[in-house]
Amino acid sequence: MAIIISGTEVSKQIKAELVTEILSLKSKGINPALATILVGEDEASKVYIGQKIKTCEKLGIISHHHKLAPDASEGELLQLIDKLNKDQSVHGILCQLPLPKNINSDKILLAISPDKDVDGFHLLNMGKLLSKKNMKEIEQEGMYLPCTPHGIIQLLKRTSIPISGAEAVIVGRSNIVGKPVALLLMAENATITICHTGTIDMGATTRRADILIAAIGKPKFITADMVKDGVVVIDVGVNRLPEGLCGDVDFENVQKKAKAITPVPGGVGPMTIAMLMVNTVKAAKKLGAIK
Ligand code: NAP
Repeated sequence: MAIIISGTEVSKQIKAELVTEILSLKSKGINPALATILVGEDEASKVYIGQKIKTCEKLGIISHHHKLAPDASEGELLQLIDKLNKDQSVHGILCQLPLPKNINSDKILLAISPDKDVDGFHLLNMGKLLSKKNMKEIEQEGMYLPCTPHGIIQLLKRTSIPISGAEAVIVGRSNIVGKPVALLLMAENATITICHTGTIDMGATTRRADILIAAIGKPKFITADMVKDGVVVIDVGVNRLPEGLCGDVDFENVQKKAKAITPVPGGVGPMTIAMLMVNTVKAAKKLGAIK
C-alpha cells in the first residue's frame, strides 16, 4: 500500500514555521500584507481567493482584497496594479487567473512589480529560475518561486523522497506548473522528461518515472498501466466532477502500485497556498527592510 503524502499536514508545518517569522517581523514594525485581485465571478477562482484570504488571516498576514466587475477593462486593472505597486504597505500582489478574455494576462503579469510578484509568474522571476543551475544558486538569487511547483518540491523533500538521481516525468507543460516544476526538479538533480499532447507513447515514458508529476487537467488520465511499481506520484490536477473533486490520476488503482502518492483534495492544493504565504513573508522581509 502506498504512503499517502498529505499536503494538508506538510503545509501545517510550513505555516507554523511562518507564524514565528511573522511575529518576529511584526516586532520590527513590519506587517506582512498581501493584496489579492479577483476580476469577475468565476466560482472556482472565488473559492481559491477565499482560501488564500482565510490563510492570511490565520497566520496574521494582512490581506487587502480587490474585486473588479466581470466587464472591468484592462486599463482599470492596470491602474489598480500600478497603485498597489506604489503602496509601501503592500508587500505581495496576487491577481487570480484565469482573467476574462478581454484582458491580456501576459500584460497583467508583467505589470506587477517583480519585487511584489508573490505568484512568481513575472518574466523576470521566471527567467531567473531558468538561468540558475541548482537549488543553491536559486536560493542565493532570492527570487520568488511559483507556488505550486515550489510546493511540490517541498512535499517531496519534507517526506524524504529522494529527488537527486531520480527519473522524473512531468505530464503537462504549462508556464505555471509543468515547465517550472521540471526546472526545479532538474535543479534538484533529477533527470527530467516533459510530456504533452505531442508525446507519442505516453505510457512508455511515464512507466520510466521514479517520480511522476501529473499536471494535465483531465480526470483520472494517469492509469495504473502507465506507472511502474514503486513510483512516487504527485497529482496536481483539480477536476470538478458531479461526484466531487478528483485529480489527474486514477488514485484508487495507481496507489496499489505506488510507493507514495498525493490525494486530491489534500495534496498539492494546500501546499500552493502555503508557498504563497512563504513568498508574501519573503516579500515583506525584502520590502519592509527597504522602507
Ligand atoms: P494547462 O495550462 O491547461 O496545461 C495542461 C497541460 O497538459 C498542457 O501542457 C497540455 O499539453 C497537457 N495535456 C492536456 N491534455 C493532454 C493529453 N491528452 N495528453 C498529453 N498532454 C495533455 O493546465 P495547468 O494550469 O498546468 O493545470 C493542470 C491541472 O492542475 C489543472 O487541473 C489545474 O486545475 C490544476 N492546478 C492545480 C493547482 C493546485 O494548487 N492544486 C495549481 C495549478 C493548477 P499541450 O501543452 O500540448 O496542450
